[in-house]
Amino acid sequence: MSVLESIHVGGEWRAATSGETREILDPADATPLAVVAEGGTEDTDAAVAAARRAFDEGEWPHTPTAERAALLRRVADLLQRDREEIALVESRDTGKTLEEGRVDVDDVTAAFRYFADLVMNESGGRVVDAGSADVHSVVVHEPVGVCALITPWNYPLLQASWKVAPALAAGNTFVIKPSEITPLSTVHLVKLVAEAGAPAGVANIVTGAGLPVGQRLAEHPDVDLFSFTGGLASGTKAGAAAVAGAKKVALELGGKNPNVVFADACGTEEGFDAAVDQALNAAFIHSGQVCSAGARLIVEESVKDRFVAELADRARKIRLGRGTEDGVECGPLVSRQQLEKVEAYVASALAEGAELVCGGERPGPSGVRPAGGYFYAPTVLDRCHRGMRVIREETFGPILTVETFRTEDEAVALANDTEYGLAGAVFSGDTARARRVAARLRHGTVWINDFHPYLPQAEWGGFGKSGIGRELGPHGLAEYRETKHVYENLRPAPVRWFAG
Ligand code: NAD
Repeated sequence: MSVLESIHVGGEWRAATSGETREILDPADATPLAVVAEGGTEDTDAAVAAARRAFDEGEWPHTPTAERAALLRRVADLLQRDREEIALVESRDTGKTLEEGRVDVDDVTAAFRYFADLVMNESGGRVVDAGSADVHSVVVHEPVGVCALITPWNYPLLQASWKVAPALAAGNTFVIKPSEITPLSTVHLVKLVAEAGAPAGVANIVTGAGLPVGQRLAEHPDVDLFSFTGGLASGTKAGAAAVAGAKKVALELGGKNPNVVFADACGTEEGFDAAVDQALNAAFIHSGQVCSAGARLIVEESVKDRFVAELADRARKIRLGRGTEDGVECGPLVSRQQLEKVEAYVASALAEGAELVCGGERPGPSGVRPAGGYFYAPTVLDRCHRGMRVIREETFGPILTVETFRTEDEAVALANDTEYGLAGAVFSGDTARARRVAARLRHGTVWINDFHPYLPQAEWGGFGKSGIGRELGPHGLAEYRETKHVYENLRPAPVRWFAG
């Protein structure tokens, strides 16, 4: 298999300086999908140097907003031109279904268009009243500089776009390091940014591992902003290294997201059907490898038995297989390591007293499910409680835990009993109650009678240990900017503070 020159530095595509490579595996059968360059410290330094030069000496930071917005729109058009190709790459690399891959490409396109529109609709600065007719005082925004962008494996292209689009819109240059497990769609994205006309050195990519590439980016003195999406442990470690160098830091970390279902959501057959369907979607889409997965079902005791029985019945029918096969609803987990981690969580939950309702096993091969793939059956665990690891920690797999409550206060207390705070949902047929509970949930996104939708114009991010800062929306652009106050004295005169 030929080696993909997946490192892009200063406008050139190349192999790793060391010559090292990495096999990218298809998680559906564990066979090699591609071989990419395994970047190291030298490649990272070269990429940062290129981004630094393009920022300090190049035109991009000073390019008129309309031209930058036009480049973002060209990227959006190119994404749509290559939609099928990218969706296929994303599906084969991550294991997600082809249809999910298409949805991701459309969402990424929307993010580029959103940030293009956002910068075009801004005014040129905020005039502030200095209390004197002799002073003109204005607050303006400027690019931060060189941005280091680190992304995870579950939504490689989508997470990249939430960083790349605002970074470019604001006039920055960047070095992106995708997850070493799923780098392929991000390589494609950087090709499109170059094709759309980004000057050499503006968009750089180094494929490689968290150590050394990600860590070097966190520590590099010529990086101005470090934006990381990934797990709590690696994010806080890398974030601490970035803060030690007084960089601007943005962290999008994990979640342990509650899905609160009141009995009054299930008062009608339609309501019951919708709440069960949404709970299934919340927990099992992309095999639960979603930062906002509704992995904790917190259901009112009086409906729990009926709700869980129906949910498990539907979970057993989820069609697991290779994401590119027709009719497949869920793909494999992304790696052997992830599969083993999920198995360990189920084993620990059972040892701690949980009851296995369905799943809890690797399904055997079938027509659409090759042998050797990292498949795990959608799993429902009843009788779970706070004492269990599976309730406290992010499993990032197809595991749905069940807890019950009797009162609204109990439901809120359970839903907020997590160190994370990324997302949560409340299902209720009583609008006043649903809004009351939503107002009390300490999570960055709260859905009422729904799960998972997000909007590029609304901020995304977490309370608590789910992160620092926000992506998307106006705040998601502000992260990539410095704020400058320009105070102009229109009638210069001595101030005579000093007598001499
Ligand atoms: P991870 O933390 O293992 O890796 C994320 C990225 O960080 C990868 O590119 C990795 O190479 C890099 N990395 C690892 N160690 C590093 C270090 N010391 N310094 C710098 N970079 C380092 O996460 P993952 O397993 O790829 O992704 C899953 C995690 O991502 C989950 O916790 C999930 O909740 C989170 N996530 C969060 C969001 C969000 O919006 N909050 C979105 C998607 C995923």
